[in-house]
Amino acid sequence: MRIVIIGAGAMGSLFGGLLSPVAKVNLVDPWQEHVEAIRRDGLCLVEGGEDKILQLSATSDPADVSPADLAIIFLKSHQTEWGAQIARQVLKPDGLALTLQNGLGNRDVLAQVLGTGRTWQGVTAHGATLLGPGRVRHAGFGPTHLETRPNIAARAEQVAALFQQAGIETHLSPDLDSLIWGKLVINVGINALTAILRVPNGVLGQTAPARALMDQAVEEAMQVVRAKGIQLPYDDAFSKVHDVCAATAGNRSSMLQDALRGSRTEIEVINGAIVREAARLGLQAPVNQVLTGLIRAIEATYSARVA
Ligand code: NAD
Repeated sequence: MRIVIIGAGAMGSLFGGLLSPVAKVNLVDPWQEHVEAIRRDGLCLVEGGEDKILQLSATSDPADVSPADLAIIFLKSHQTEWGAQIARQVLKPDGLALTLQNGLGNRDVLAQVLGTGRTWQGVTAHGATLLGPGRVRHAGFGPTHLETRPNIAARAEQVAALFQQAGIETHLSPDLDSLIWGKLVINVGINALTAILRVPNGVLGQTAPARALMDQAVEEAMQVVRAKGIQLPYDDAFSKVHDVCAATAGNRSSMLQDALRGSRTEIEVINGAIVREAARLGLQAPVNQVLTGLIRAIEATYSARVA
């Protein structure tokens, strides 16, 4: 199977590296220095303190890529539309574009360009961190779930088997809403607040005023979850979010990392998605609205920051 990974940051590099022994993998990414490092030295995958060098084809120019059966989208959400155009260019006519990104709405952006029949949704519990150009750490392990539906069932089986062969524990499911929203609710509680307060995850759970805001953001997300009739993969969202803060106490959330390096965040598909979904359902989400507004303001003022 020929697979193109569109967006070879932390997660795209991880999946590309893991899949490279079992499939023909091409990485496509706009970050030139990273692409050049992989072409020159191979991709260095740091797993359990061990460095593995994997030889992978990487490019910033989609014209270099042979027609692919599968495109895996691992860009940040604000780049998804660009990714969809690349997918249209590099996929075979019956090729599928699979998003394993976080948040809500990436699949719709892909569908607008490729049509719903060629888009595919998954969720992964793996985690990765970029250590520098050409170097990625496998930071978290967990199952990957891929949607299955009648018109792609055979291919879904084939891809799941390939992922398994690559050591990526994979399950097929007709409905991923529970897992997508389960992850989203946790991100709604943690991501924006850690980026605004500039603190690691653990501080949110340990600081009463921050925890109160986190709980309010989660409660608004839960009102949407209940209105949509979605059953989350855990019973108590507040305990779950507090547990995640404690278990990842020293971690910097992805939104905090983006804010610290002056990059666009995924606010629109996380807290912003709660605001949009709430409005659609006739609900209010004032805390998420303010968190979304604050992150937008932070993004808009990166160049004007005082030290
Ligand atoms: P990432 O920030 O590592 O990469 C995204 C894009 O930014 C890539 O094109 C990458 O090349 C570019 N980039 C990263 N660092 C750069 C730098 N210093 N200079 C220039 N360009 C740079 O993103 P990610 O963490 O791989 O996330 C991709 C998607 O997967 C997101 O939707 C995210 O929410 C989701 N996700 C991430 C994780 C994780 O552990 N990182 C886990 C599950 C899902």
